[in-house]
Amino acid sequence: MTLRGTRPGPLAVLALLSGGSMRVRMLSMALLLAAAGCASPITTTGTPPTATIAPTGQATPIGPNEPTAPIVPIVPAGPTGPPGRTTPAAPAGAPVAGTPSATASGTAGARKAEARPDWPVGNFPAPRPARRINCERVRCVALTFDDGPGTYTGALLDMLARYRGRATFFVVGQMVPGDGERILRRMVAEGHELGNHSWSHPELPGLSEAGIREQLNRTQWIVKRATGVTMDLMRPPYGATDARVAAESRHLGLAQILWDVDTLDWRDRDSSIVARRAAEATPGSIVLMHDIHLSTVQAVPRLLRHFAARGYRLVTLSELYGRRLVSGRKYPVGSGF
Ligand SMILES: [Zn+2]
Repeated sequence: MTLRGTRPGPLAVLALLSGGSMRVRMLSMALLLAAAGCASPITTTGTPPTATIAPTGQATPIGPNEPTAPIVPIVPAGPTGPPGRTTPAAPAGAPVAGTPSATASGTAGARKAEARPDWPVGNFPAPRPARRINCERVRCVALTFDDGPGTYTGALLDMLARYRGRATFFVVGQMVPGDGERILRRMVAEGHELGNHSWSHPELPGLSEAGIREQLNRTQWIVKRATGVTMDLMRPPYGATDARVAAESRHLGLAQILWDVDTLDWRDRDSSIVARRAAEATPGSIVLMHDIHLSTVQAVPRLLRHFAARGYRLVTLSELYGRRLVSGRKYPVGSGF
């Protein structure tokens, strides 16, 4: 099976220049991890890929062609905090930098509030409940996106909305302050699921128990503050876990979610390759991707067409299992991790 390729476009520069604080944070995070000698999938270096998913006129073997919209980087909006609501107390060591800015553009925020009445500025979004889908009878696949929110996450949400697809986003806490809070609130309002992917993406088994707890606690806290949601899923960075990580996850009420389809999208920044690997999913699969990479987001329209043509429902983890998962336990059970 082959998929059409993409070519660099003039909007790539615009997309990268417009990334703003989010991109700066992604770069600083990559540098931090590089300095720590960590072979991290979180990198934003390399040749900028195209910023549009332009139809090329070539056949698309995994689904019918359809016009696609340009990927638009997220732009800063108005205040993102929930000032009118009780916010959870910060745990010890919780970050103070990056708290919601009261000086952000009120005009942009007002426009956004008008456009999304169910997601008013100043309040938590109304969560869209999990759908009741019997994934033992219906073909389901759970797309999961790690390491964000990032510059292209908003465009990804647009694509998912067009196909009524839902996904699970495993959030890195230090990516959240600022624009990320607004993106997370949109995810909740549109029915996506949020999971904890640590604060700064270390290998958790290498940390003390207190260190593991802080990594998870901080991210629980900032997501709760931004969205009102208490997450009950986590994914250990690199899939690296052990008995102590399991114990701390259990203590915080977090089930450990691994995967069975790895797109290796952090390594191969080629949307055709990413789409081809993700398309190997079978009913019940959990697919690992990273929404901080443009090439990954570019692969998603093809994936959506591929799965739609085969009758798949794109579901969250909670919808996939249809029940509350056991804290500390690893899923999928027997995945070899
Ligand atoms: Zn990760």
